Amino acid sequence: MIPTVNVVVLKARNIYEGELDFSFEADSDLLDIPFVSFAAPVEAKLRFSISEDDAVQVRGRIDFTLVGSCSRCLDPAEQNVSGEVDAVFVKSEPEDVEYRYQGGAVDLREMLRDAVLFALPRRILCSRCAEEENHS
Ligand SMILES: [Zn+2]
Repeated sequence: MIPTVNVVVLKARNIYEGELDFSFEADSDLLDIPFVSFAAPVEAKLRFSISEDDAVQVRGRIDFTLVGSCSRCLDPAEQNVSGEVDAVFVKSEPEDVEYRYQGGAVDLREMLRDAVLFALPRRILCSRCAEEENHS
């Protein structure tokens, strides 16, 4: 499940940073590689920090595995994928920031969707094809 960073509650407890380790089901709509799907939920290891102006920075990484058919030979293939997360959420009207939050709590879903999308390879290869491409 995707946790929420509840800024109001955390600040009331004097907590300004912390770790978020969780897994979540990625939306299969994100995948546009033929015959490929997510093998398991995406693992996220994130750290958040709340600054004085209530901006929330979230950094860390996501890891997931894709399974399906090799994009070259259609043999069974499996590929581990990692992605970086580095995002800032602000309360105010965004100018050049990516995300904002309302009601004192940060919803990470859109950011995680973007992180998965950004990390996705355009294809996956079986071990034999990966080997061949390395040598060519
Ligand atoms: Zn192959």
